[in-house]
Amino acid sequence: MFDKEKVMDAVKLLLEGIGEDPTREGLIETPERVARMCEDIFGGMNEDPKVHLSKQFPAPNSELVIEKDIIFYSMCEHHLLPFFGKAHVAYIPNGKVVGLSKIPRTVEVFARRPQLQEQMTVQIADAVEANLEAKGVMVMIEAEHTCMTMRGVKKPGVKTITTATRGLFVDNPDRQRMFLDAVRN
Ligand code: ZN
Repeated sequence: MFDKEKVMDAVKLLLEGIGEDPTREGLIETPERVARMCEDIFGGMNEDPKVHLSKQFPAPNSELVIEKDIIFYSMCEHHLLPFFGKAHVAYIPNGKVVGLSKIPRTVEVFARRPQLQEQMTVQIADAVEANLEAKGVMVMIEAEHTCMTMRGVKKPGVKTITTATRGLFVDNPDRQRMFLDAVRN
């Protein structure tokens, strides 16, 4: 569970660790501010995507459903620096669909945790497949990692693309291309 005091202590320690004085005016409220921010940006930690994906509607004849350009912000678990970009999700319903806002909410649940892009891609695909019993799922995420742009190799604008396929998308290049074409336009 979220422990605000612990986060505040940690921020104070971090500031001391880098040689700062956490009691100087500009920093005095920083631990409190960072703790409140953490509660928000890591708010997906204790959330289950089931909450969003369990309300379903019958859709007997539906084919491919694609939701694209879902903007997200997450925190790289290796550096605790932001990575952000767009998630694109497609699924082939098995007689039922979810409300349009539920896929972006599912992306949020996984984005608001210490995260890796590859892992997040897989988690979204698994959640949609499991909760909707979808016949097929494909997720593509394109993101910029500030741990690559403001430190390390310092290459702004570089995008990392990850994909995950489940069910009818697996080993089906035509179907995958259909999704990727839809996402690119
Ligand atoms: Zn990183």
